[in-house]
Amino acid sequence: MKKWIALILVLLFLVFSSSATDVCLFSHGMRFIEEAGSVTFLPLERQTEFSEPNKPYDGPMVALTFDDGPSKRVTDRILDLLEKHSAKATFFVLGSNVEAYPDKLERMLELGCEIGNHSYDHKNLPSISREAVEYQLETTKWCTYEACGSFPTLVRPPYGNVDDKVLEFSELPIILWSLDTMDWKSRNTELIKKIAINKVRDGDIILMHDIYSFTADACETIIPALIKKGYKLVTVSELIEAKGFTVSAGEEFSRGR
Ligand SMILES: [Zn+2]
Repeated sequence: MKKWIALILVLLFLVFSSSATDVCLFSHGMRFIEEAGSVTFLPLERQTEFSEPNKPYDGPMVALTFDDGPSKRVTDRILDLLEKHSAKATFFVLGSNVEAYPDKLERMLELGCEIGNHSYDHKNLPSISREAVEYQLETTKWCTYEACGSFPTLVRPPYGNVDDKVLEFSELPIILWSLDTMDWKSRNTELIKKIAINKVRDGDIILMHDIYSFTADACETIIPALIKKGYKLVTVSELIEAKGFTVSAGEEFSRGR
């Protein structure tokens, strides 16, 4: 009888020690693949070929863009929402507002957002002189650099209005939009949400303004809703690259499709 007990104990020991070996293999970063009944263990360095971590994202994406800021309260509210949802956006800033609220720009860059030049004080560029256009764009470029140590990477002329002299002085791609939420016109949170959420399409560049509290109210719903619909929220330059476009200085771009 003692022999039987001893035999059972030995068998139990063997079973537990073999499962402990499995645990040990996994805890040392091994993975296995099971193919036609045979199990093969792979070392960590070969796991990358299965997870493809460097594969570029090619799913649906949109670029939220915010013009006319930065502003005292609304810009931070929008940045808070972007941070909360791990999303990015592009801010087309006015040089005059950058001078007033320079600290907002550093936070934009910290969150991976992009900064574009929207002129110094929102002049309609085709209606002013060549020298004035140059002043509007150059001053804002240097205000931005002073505020955050980086130059703007894109230009959006006020009202989307462009003429030959704007093209000539723009050292950067000129970014327009494909979906206008009309926040500046309707001033209505529900309408802004409806347009952004119901009319969005893959590759859209969505126009909003980070100077209105009703726009920030709408973004509280818009940002999570777009993510839930499967859209990645990227910067304009990320959208251009991911969708396979190349946009040169002085060239207009309004949608990633
Ligand atoms: Zn504007």
